Amino acid sequence: MQVFFNNEFVEDDKVHISPFDRGFQFADGIYEVIRYYPRNFFELDAHLKRLKYGLTELGITFSNVESIEAILAELISRNNLSDKTAIAYIQITRGTQRPRKHSYNNEVVPTFFAYVEELPINYDAMNNGVKIGIEQDIRWHRCDIKTIALLPNVLSKQRAVQKNLFEIIWHRDGVITEGVQTNVAFIKDDVVYTPLLNNLILPGITRQTVLRLCRSLGIQTSEREIHLDELKNFNEIFLMSTTAEITPVVEIHGAIVGKGVPGKVSKYLQKQFQKLH
Ligand code: PLP
Repeated sequence: MQVFFNNEFVEDDKVHISPFDRGFQFADGIYEVIRYYPRNFFELDAHLKRLKYGLTELGITFSNVESIEAILAELISRNNLSDKTAIAYIQITRGTQRPRKHSYNNEVVPTFFAYVEELPINYDAMNNGVKIGIEQDIRWHRCDIKTIALLPNVLSKQRAVQKNLFEIIWHRDGVITEGVQTNVAFIKDDVVYTPLLNNLILPGITRQTVLRLCRSLGIQTSEREIHLDELKNFNEIFLMSTTAEITPVVEIHGAIVGKGVPGKVSKYLQKQFQKLH
């Protein structure tokens, strides 16, 4: 597979990353995942804007964000994925610095890595709906930054897989935040509710696209705190992410959602979303 590492396109097995890379030692870096649908990176500008936000928040000086679009397009071409549905993964760490110390100096040169990989749309999950669990959110308080420090996500997802669940959504003291890899929305009386943006959730690009789509379709939306004890009031729940698009939830923490099948608003939104790419 051809990947892009620092300044060049190389075969993946030719990439060498120092054990002193701060990404390896401190999870000191950020990443992005972008959907590629045949001939088009979906919402690329929004993803790159979020990447820049993360770089700024972490004080990583990486000045080549403008070149990323061309690099990704070249990766698609070199890996013969032009006609496929794929994802692009981008990771930027603060770079290699020795001796190991927590504080960083500003001369460190960031490490940049990008690859693309075929990833078909998960029609099974999207058509039939999924079961999800609920856990307490034990992450730090800057979940608005898409950092590579993902241990709480890894551990929650592993428990999900062991229980045959598609996803875990988290709550902080009874207030829903988001999923391990998704944002979440709830529907009652045709109104779409989703947790409001703050430092405790990732500003998902799919979430933003879905809210915009709702407005354009005349579907009412509300961004507000959503509490665990109101879950039973909602008729529909769906997950949103770059890879899951709009995936309806049919069971949450063992309780059936609505009629136990994907709801009509979720299905309608899913169809309209697909027209965007
Ligand atoms: N929330 C978290 C914690 C995520 O990791 C992701 C995506 O990976 C999302 C939400 C969804 O974000 P996006 O729609 O930008 O893929």
